[in-house]
Amino acid sequence: MSGLRLMAVHAHPDDESSKGAATTARYAAEGHEVLVVTLTGGERGDILNPAMDIPGIRDRMPEVRREEMAEAARILGVQQRWLGFVDSGLPEGDPKPPLPEGCFALVPLEEPTRKLVEVIREFRPHVMTTYDENGGYPHPDHIRCHEVSVAAYEAAGDPDRFPEAGPAWKVQKLYYSHGFIRKRLELFREEYERRGEPFPMEEWLKRWRTEQGDIMARVTTQITCSDYFPKRDDALRAHATQIDPNGSFFAVPLDIQQKVWPTEEFELAKTRVHTAIPETDLFAGIEDGQVR
Ligand SMILES: [Zn+2]
Repeated sequence: MSGLRLMAVHAHPDDESSKGAATTARYAAEGHEVLVVTLTGGERGDILNPAMDIPGIRDRMPEVRREEMAEAARILGVQQRWLGFVDSGLPEGDPKPPLPEGCFALVPLEEPTRKLVEVIREFRPHVMTTYDENGGYPHPDHIRCHEVSVAAYEAAGDPDRFPEAGPAWKVQKLYYSHGFIRKRLELFREEYERRGEPFPMEEWLKRWRTEQGDIMARVTTQITCSDYFPKRDDALRAHATQIDPNGSFFAVPLDIQQKVWPTEEFELAKTRVHTAIPETDLFAGIEDGQVR
């Protein structure tokens, strides 16, 4: 089965390379059309890679982030569109400072929803992915990404909503991608113990907040995509200003990841087709040729 369309909605450039990236690379390689929609330009992302904190980079960040995004999309084999909103930044401190004027999280929901509906009606995806109601990570743009995606999933199929945004298109399934899975880290640690080596993410595991609960209880769908982990990592490294190549994301070698946890995890949030849980395919239940 090929020729189906998958749309992955993300808050910032680089999110598409760290959340469900190997899954998108796999579907693209298997002949499906994959479109990443990036809601903001990532303008407020700090330089997180010391090697990139150099003159000529910091003073042209918006442009640099566009170049990085284009390279990441090329590596993953996906198409990419900007929705044109401005990064809200991650407010830090106690109390948190107010969000900057005009930023994405402050724009009335209707506006990004209409723009995303327009892209949905043009690309006509069978499946969409986004984040859960907590954003997967408590950034105001990630929570907004969830709200906009859910609103656009509903509105795109309703001819009475945004009639000027093109003919109605019903997306068949909506998923939340889940990346922070405790069990995955615990299995990595067991593998290090077997090898008699210290686990490089021990501190990370210790800091894990128990109130986050076990997200695996919400996972309905696991996509085997370990062959595409190298592309995922290359795409992430293409966001050179945002990613420290010596950071924890790359701490566990690929061969261990591929052996111990070869999948990416999703939660089927809404569906208009019948499907049996658990699933191993985002397109499960969508018959080829039925909904072109
Ligand atoms: Zn982000």
